[in-house]
Amino acid sequence: MTEPVIASRLHGIPPTIFTEMSALAAATGAVNLGQGFPDVDGPREVVQRAEAALRGGANQYAPGPGVPALRTAIARHQERHYGLTLDPMTEVVVTTGATEAIAAAMLALVDPGDEVIVLEPFYDSYPATIQMAGGVRRPVTLRAPAFRLDVDALRAAVSDRTKLILLNSPHNPTGTALTPSELDAVASIAIEHDLLVVTDEVYEHLTYDVPHVPLATIPGMFERTLTISSIGKSYSLTGWKVGWATGPARLVEAVLAAKQWLTFTSGAPLQPAAAYALDEHGDWPRELAADLRVRRDLLCQGLRSLGLDVVVPEGTYFATTDISALGWADGDAFCRALPHRAGVVAIPTQGFYDSDAGRMLVRWAFCKRPELIEEALGRLAAADLHA
Ligand code: PMP
Ligand code: GLN
Repeated sequence: MTEPVIASRLHGIPPTIFTEMSALAAATGAVNLGQGFPDVDGPREVVQRAEAALRGGANQYAPGPGVPALRTAIARHQERHYGLTLDPMTEVVVTTGATEAIAAAMLALVDPGDEVIVLEPFYDSYPATIQMAGGVRRPVTLRAPAFRLDVDALRAAVSDRTKLILLNSPHNPTGTALTPSELDAVASIAIEHDLLVVTDEVYEHLTYDVPHVPLATIPGMFERTLTISSIGKSYSLTGWKVGWATGPARLVEAVLAAKQWLTFTSGAPLQPAAAYALDEHGDWPRELAADLRVRRDLLCQGLRSLGLDVVVPEGTYFATTDISALGWADGDAFCRALPHRAGVVAIPTQGFYDSDAGRMLVRWAFCKRPELIEEALGRLAAADLHA
């Protein structure tokens, strides 16, 4: 019997490396410095708000664009932190995590054959959702060890098929936070070529010693920029999957048009609790960042003392190392052996590249308790890490 052929736009998209490596950590009992999620939950009062909403009857469909209290809290957040004034009813949409906002934006804004410029290494949902939309990705590489934006490469990537630039700052996995002058360069290219920009700023509050500058604050950019964020990273609630997109009404409307056919609406009881977090625990992300900075330094110093080349990140949960000196064929082989060799899981970043530039790079998460990071470093120090 022949089987029906499955050939769709999704054909060839592999399972996510995060799922794969977390499963490997569970199967081997390894310390998981792979998938980026904290091992301590966000504010207890915020969780209690969600509990109260569940008990209080917020259990039926929320409005498609999100509950008004959350849309208003998101608008206030943008005003308070960045001086951006938004109409919560037309310029904010709540999504099921930043992930849905990214997917909805690609489906809404990219037509088959359109080109999307994306920073390489790219977060894995970007190529997948560009492919779902029938778009074509055009990577611009952030090269190790500095991982800065190559403005000439960005300019050269623009063609007459370019529809939008998909930006991510602070950037996963490199930890780069784009500087005002890099953002100015993006802005001038976008304006010159009349491009849209979708900017994923889920790590907006997790920067270390550098400010986060939203692209939408650069003069001339608000009207062509869709900004995406979520509660997950800022409040250590990654499992909540409450995200949002903000920007000019016509871009937000476009996202909503796609979102209504993806999930229609996002989890009702979590939305008032997310609003409460933004409104009443505004300083919590800053305190988290100060704490994460210490853990970043602990991990980076530890990895360095093992003889690894470490790039100290300006933001995010992640530090990247070059493992060339250890004699492995690539980071993938290293990461697949590591749980067995050392009882630690890390993420090979080469899957986030089209080019070869990430072949020897490995990402390590430091959004874990210090004792777990120390445990991982102890295990690594005791193991033979050479090929
Ligand atoms: N964008 C980036 C850059 C991420 O690292 C992540 C994962 N945490 C997401 C988006 C997804 O965010 P969410 O969990 O809110 O869907
Ligand atoms: N954003 C997380 C990371 O980069 C993973 C989220 C996921 O598993 N999709 O590790």
